[in-house]
Amino acid sequence: MGYDFLVSVQGRYAFINTSKNDDVPLKRFLKCDECGKYLRAYKATKNQEYYYKCNSPGCKCNKRADSLHSVFDNMLSKYSLDISEEMKVLVVEQMIATYNQLNEQRVDDSAKIEGQLRELSKKMERLEVRYIEEEINKDMFDKYRLKYREEKKEIEMQLSKIGKKVSNLDQFINSAIVFSSKLSIVWHSSDFARKQLLQFLVFPDGIYYNRKSDECRTQKVNSFFLYMSSLKGVLEKKEKREPQSELYVPSLVARTGVEPVIPP
Ligand SMILES: [Zn+2]
Repeated sequence: MGYDFLVSVQGRYAFINTSKNDDVPLKRFLKCDECGKYLRAYKATKNQEYYYKCNSPGCKCNKRADSLHSVFDNMLSKYSLDISEEMKVLVVEQMIATYNQLNEQRVDDSAKIEGQLRELSKKMERLEVRYIEEEINKDMFDKYRLKYREEKKEIEMQLSKIGKKVSNLDQFINSAIVFSSKLSIVWHSSDFARKQLLQFLVFPDGIYYNRKSDECRTQKVNSFFLYMSSLKGVLEKKEKREPQSELYVPSLVARTGVEPVIPP
């Protein structure tokens, strides 16, 4: 049974009709790498199979849905961290350390920006006083008031970008790791709407399918999953080189923009 409902993924809203889409979850998410248009999904009358196809004139991108889903699944697995319990402890420690490091910077930055805001308020007060005391004329007053207001807007925007501290960090990281380790399983077992949510959560700008190389690519990966894949790279190298007992996770250079994601 299909029904329409509103989903929000990272600030985008879309009505989704679940009725005919369960077989083609990459619809409205997957674009043709050659022309940049969304691939359309259709069911072939001949074999009753679903396909994704580019409708641009001359573009020959046409691929069976199940094969394209495995290409996508491969891509998804790069950002999935499947690790042992012992390794998980190390990863949690590492993530907490990275988070704290980032958070120190966040606290410093917001203190600095709040200082700038206070300075600006003083300037604005002083401007009003000068105008009232007729030290400056109306034109001057308007000109500077506008300038200060714009500065204020700019500073407030910077402040909003810094983000907030995550409470229950251990719990949060644990559930994020569990979620990350099951990306592919969760994707396979979900319905259309949940698949779409997960797709946009990991790849906020969607993905492109290249017919010639038979590969998917994306321009943007959620920084949490990027971080996961970098940890995965580090862990795999370590695993090859060293015996299990000597494993450790080296301090990673903190990436800018590691933003927490809430697993659905
Ligand atoms: Zn195309």
